[in-house]
Amino acid sequence: MIPPTFDYHAPTSVADALKLMGQLGSDAKLLAGGHSLLPMMKLRFAQPAHLIDLNRIDSLRGIREDGGTIVIGAMTVENDLIESKILQAKMPLLPEAARLIADPQVRNRGTIGGDVAHGDPGNDHPALMLAVDATFVLQGPKGQRQVKAEGFFHGTYMTELAEDEILVEIRIPAFAAKTGYAYEKLKRKTGDWATAGAAVVLRMSAEKVSSVRIALTNVAPTAVRVPAAEATLVGKPLTESAIAQAAGEVMAACDPAEDLRGDREYKTAMAGEMFRRAIRKAAARCK
Ligand code: FAD
Repeated sequence: MIPPTFDYHAPTSVADALKLMGQLGSDAKLLAGGHSLLPMMKLRFAQPAHLIDLNRIDSLRGIREDGGTIVIGAMTVENDLIESKILQAKMPLLPEAARLIADPQVRNRGTIGGDVAHGDPGNDHPALMLAVDATFVLQGPKGQRQVKAEGFFHGTYMTELAEDEILVEIRIPAFAAKTGYAYEKLKRKTGDWATAGAAVVLRMSAEKVSSVRIALTNVAPTAVRVPAAEATLVGKPLTESAIAQAAGEVMAACDPAEDLRGDREYKTAMAGEMFRRAIRKAAARCK
């Protein structure tokens, strides 16, 4: 299918992009990798009169360290996450999980910023961002503001981003030594979105859980963090009975939509199973 006609703009700075957004208003959409937006345009779910392409804004791309914080430009593509030496050393969850996203062609164009900004609960980065306690830097006509991942996802395709704002970068505290991590994703075939996914970031001290963050993909209208399961685990040894109790909390947090990937009961059960696998893998990596 061919999308409706639109005017194309290719600014080379964030300031110019914001200026264009101010002039064109709600008739314009930002274009990143295009792997979510263009399919929606072809299906006529989105019909912007103008596309503002962010691909020529070099400052939006790349991964760097700022003290103990890792800073990822919104236009950084999945394949660059996978290849990043900084991420492999200090935030290995992201390169590992990015390998599970779509296929090599999509990963070559699809950006972390687009994956987050799209607000699709089926996308993998939203839950990952909740698990790693990411902060999003949003830039608008009046300057920048920072929003925690936790308050960013409002509903399916709805986020904290205002119409005149660009997600410019993502800031994540680097993992401390011996942080355990895992992302488990059940998918029907390579390249598919998750039937259910679970991200876990875990710290152990003296054989007890000292901190844990748990977040789920595609089992609710947004990615969800599961504080009840985290509270069940913190301060105790990671026994099978504690994991079983936390898995119950994980399943209680699920509110999936029935679709071709399964009914609500199946998806909820699979979220529990993805959590169990992720927490065991994370625990094995804490040493
Ligand atoms: P675009 O499609 O260009 O933009 C998406 C939306 O975000 C648009 O509304 C756009 O205006 C907005 N936007 C983009 N960048 C910004 C920004 N910096 N600031 C503000 N708004 C912005 N994703 C997964 O996570 N897991 C999968 O398993 C998966 N499988 C896929 C399989 C296929 C076959 C395809 C085609 C896609 C798949 N995707 C998957 C989606 C893919 O990762 C997309 O690339 C991603 O959802 C959107 O990123 P993008 O850079 O392509 O953004």
